[in-house]
Amino acid sequence: MPVLLRTLTSGETSLEDGELDALRAGFRGPLIGPGDDLYEQACVVQNGMFHRRPALIARCSGTADVVDAVRLARDHDLLIAVRGGGHSVAGHSIHDGALLIDLSAMRGVDVDPQRRVARVQGGATWGDVDRETQLFGLAVPGGIVSSTGVGGLTLGGGIGWLHRAHGLACDNLRSAEVVTADGKVRRAGPEDPELLWALRGAGGNFGVVTAFEFDAHPLGPTVANGTAIYPAADAGQVLRAWRDWASGLPDEITTRAVLWTLPASPALPAELHDQDVLIIGAVHAGHVEDGMTALEPMRRFGTPLADLSGPAPYTAVQQAFDPFFPKGGLLSYWKSLYFRELDDAVLDLLVRRGRERPHPVTMLHVPLLGGAAGRVPAADTAFGDRNADYLLSVDANWTDADDTARAVRWVRDVLAEAESMPGAAGTYLNFSGEAVLDPGARASAYGDNLERLGRAKARYDPHNRFRLNNNIPPQG
Ligand SMILES: Cc1cc2nc3c(=O)[nH]c(=O)nc-3n(C[C@H](O)[C@H](O)[C@H](O)COP(=O)(O)OP(=O)(O)OC[C@H]3O[C@@H](n4cnc5c(N)ncnc54)[C@H](O)[C@@H]3O)c2cc1C
Repeated sequence: MPVLLRTLTSGETSLEDGELDALRAGFRGPLIGPGDDLYEQACVVQNGMFHRRPALIARCSGTADVVDAVRLARDHDLLIAVRGGGHSVAGHSIHDGALLIDLSAMRGVDVDPQRRVARVQGGATWGDVDRETQLFGLAVPGGIVSSTGVGGLTLGGGIGWLHRAHGLACDNLRSAEVVTADGKVRRAGPEDPELLWALRGAGGNFGVVTAFEFDAHPLGPTVANGTAIYPAADAGQVLRAWRDWASGLPDEITTRAVLWTLPASPALPAELHDQDVLIIGAVHAGHVEDGMTALEPMRRFGTPLADLSGPAPYTAVQQAFDPFFPKGGLLSYWKSLYFRELDDAVLDLLVRRGRERPHPVTMLHVPLLGGAAGRVPAADTAFGDRNADYLLSVDANWTDADDTARAVRWVRDVLAEAESMPGAAGTYLNFSGEAVLDPGARASAYGDNLERLGRAKARYDPHNRFRLNNNIPPQG
């Protein structure tokens, strides 16, 4: 049966049996179409807002499969979606009628403990990376949910528990193997510094990364972990104390504040179920006992409902939020805004808007930035400006599609109000639920790097084949 696929010009083209057979002859992974046993499961992504139907899913087993898929797209002008871990909040990694290049079978991680380097295949999750690197007492800065993909998170920046100690995930990217739009395999690194520069923050635009090479840092297996859970009723006072403490922290400590309602989950003590809370979380990336001493103050900002702080396995810290983000189980719409400082007016907004959250699993999430991540000059990586000390991420999550309009409106209202506050500027695109990027959002994310990115896009992807992402149009 011929397969109908969408083209870049929004039309459709038909792949005849012979062409599919030729592809199949070399392809090592499965080629999955509607009606195949694997298809329905292969369409499930993290964000339950998206129930899309790609025309063909090429589940690649290695770089050669990726090359074949990209060449097929090039030769037939096909619309391509690329999926790593499938966590795109904006739904970039699945599209109706597209050729989906699915990297979920490419999850190998190879660690060189002598060089302190981890080579990670393009579809691995942070859980895969942590598992292998921790064998050698090493860690690569990633995110805070272990099922998130290395691919999208790194290519968009990467904020987690180690960014103040060791930089964003993209700052730790040494080199990468990339299949570019012409179907060639390139190495981004000393051989091609411009491609590496572009991958560090604007990456989905430049090709399919089949392997990442990261710097890994000594850490674990135990880390000093702070988790103080305060009643939301005390949020005004606790947030002020947290902000004042956070302003003088050493790089080893990465901390965040989260306004949320704790789910009735077996992962949590029963007395915490359904409580509206402010969680102050922190990880110290150094000596464990010194770390616990350094984290003492955050446990006394008020009277916690529970204090789960203590030395903990690094892998457990990395997985602590996992049970609350089941694949496809939540609908999500997020937006974010950087703040150079947290004025009292911003804290008051958090407290008030925190009370109005449209669903218990909706959260207001405020990581402290700075440290090593903050010292990288804006022009050194595509990611851009690092001057903000905080990020406000307004993360609507809900379970019933009937609540979508209300949840999306709430996020937009909070953002609109926050944008008028002192110190607000710019957005973090990895936390963006916008499916289509307007020029303003692009400029606010990439700033002065945008022009150079446009030229890089023209060089590596002149026809904008990789466009289902935070897209940068080719320039010049
Ligand atoms: C529950 C949850 C927790 C999160 N936590 C964090 C966090 O702690 N810190 C943080 O910074 N972000 C976090 N994010 C945001 C996350 O970084 C982005 O959603 C990111 O895009 C997810 O990457 P992925 O590979 O899982 O996504 P996918 O949906 O697979 O990919 C998203 C896009 O990235 C590109 N891409 C992915 N892999 C490749 C590749 N190998 N080669 C080329 N392009 C690729 C493609 O353009 C793709 O469309 C979180 C998201 C969710 C849903």
